[in-house]
Amino acid sequence: LSSLTDEARIALDNVYEYATSLGAPPLRLGVTGLARAGKTVFITALVHNLVHGGRLPLFEPWKSRRLIGAELKPQRHDDVPTFDYRGHVRALVGDRVWPESTRMISEMRLSIAYESATFLGRRLGRGRLDLDIVDYPGEWLLDLPLLAKDYRTFARETVARARMPARAEIAGPWLAHLATTDPAGPADEGVAAEAHGLFTGYLAAARGDGHALSMVPPGRFLMPGDLAGSPAITFAPLDLPAEGEAPRDSLWALMERRYEAYKDVVVRPFFRTHFARLDRQVVLVDVLAALNGGTAAVADLEAALAEILACFRPGRSSWLSGVLTRRIDRILFAATKADHLHHVSHDRLEAILRRLVEAASRRAAFAGAEVDVRAVAAVRATREATVRRGGESLPCILGVPRAGETLDGSTYTGDEEIALFPGDLPADPEVLFADLHAEIRRSRAGNPDVEAAPEVAGTADPTADADLDGTGLSTRSLVPDMRFLRFRPPQIERTAEGVTLSLPHIRLDRALDFLIGDRLA
Ligand code: GDP
Repeated sequence: LSSLTDEARIALDNVYEYATSLGAPPLRLGVTGLARAGKTVFITALVHNLVHGGRLPLFEPWKSRRLIGAELKPQRHDDVPTFDYRGHVRALVGDRVWPESTRMISEMRLSIAYESATFLGRRLGRGRLDLDIVDYPGEWLLDLPLLAKDYRTFARETVARARMPARAEIAGPWLAHLATTDPAGPADEGVAAEAHGLFTGYLAAARGDGHALSMVPPGRFLMPGDLAGSPAITFAPLDLPAEGEAPRDSLWALMERRYEAYKDVVVRPFFRTHFARLDRQVVLVDVLAALNGGTAAVADLEAALAEILACFRPGRSSWLSGVLTRRIDRILFAATKADHLHHVSHDRLEAILRRLVEAASRRAAFAGAEVDVRAVAAVRATREATVRRGGESLPCILGVPRAGETLDGSTYTGDEEIALFPGDLPADPEVLFADLHAEIRRSRAGNPDVEAAPEVAGTADPTADADLDGTGLSTRSLVPDMRFLRFRPPQIERTAEGVTLSLPHIRLDRALDFLIGDRLA
């Protein structure tokens, strides 16, 4: 009886929802990106601007004065943690520190009131759009390809990738442990835990400063959410033979069982309950960190983008297509932290990401949803100024570096504003990609394990084939003349009445227009 009542309640709830929202169902917007890409800051700034009447001139409903306001509402699902919007605003606006980053899935609901753009719509009264924002780690999304792989395939691919020149050094301690571990040996819990710890340490180093690699599955190893320490994630790849079965009660059998459990109890439920219900998606990318991380990082980022695009367009034979009742119809790729650059470079940053997304979508044979690419700063921490030095005028940015940041021998205290000439991105992204491709070719030529780069139909883009994994790309920065500092969040002004103004941003309004503008028509 009780379940019947529950179902009745859900049905009524739905009826109520549709009736009170002028027939418009809620829009579920997924926000993802790898750790530190800027998800928390993006969601907080987006909501803050809508709630506090921020300046959004490139958001059509704002420009045509149809946006009435927005308010927080209780979220839809009681069993998903709530995005801590208020806490994050306190950090950003109150303490001027960056909020705590995403560590697991969370959601929130924003109810947006607007005036319809059409005569008929206006006759029906005010419109209301319930926007459900779902924040989740990009690492989890990159787990999807594991569903199609058995343990042997996963282990062999992962070990081969770790032995690549760009990774072998950081993978050293784990590879050394691997060499002393016999897969046919006893299923020893201590050995499994140690292998897991060393392997996870390698993944963390690959993501870390100076490497900025993107392909680091399994996703829960770096972002365990509430699974930290549970057996389903206490496994690691072993150095397996190409043939043969795992002996009974061996370490191999233990790892294989846990790998399968990981897919069953972690990966599949995430896609079924969360991912499959999204209508729109924004993927945030720290392009500057990848450029700074060098050719290996950029090539890896492109591979990750291809995997992500493939998730949004599962083939008919894929398990996912069966559960995807809704289809994501718009995907925005946004390069974050554009406020680290002078505005002349904003379009250039956008062009570089567009180039990567295009290459990735060719590789994933992606078509189906509308895709857009933008460079944004969800929170603009810098201002611009021109500094004259020796008769030359340099386009600079002004901001307060975070306490402890260092550059050119100076260490900052966290309360002085400085002018920084960040340098420019190349005007033509092709210059940068030519550099990348030249290195890929050089590296291929010197690596006997890799076949000659096959020409990919219709493109002369060497990153467009799937064989990058054998190449020895370097961590030499692709933008060596650029200078990056991390700044504190900006001082938010208050009006004479003490009202807090909204957070300043760069092009957040354009992002918003693409993501929800049409639903406020
Ligand atoms: P998450 O791991 O994807 O949730 O990433 P966060 O949103 O926590 O962002 C990670 C860090 O990137 C922050 O702590 C900031 O230092 C920086 N960051 C993110 N967005 C911006 C931005 O718009 N401007 C600037 N200057 N820094 C940003």
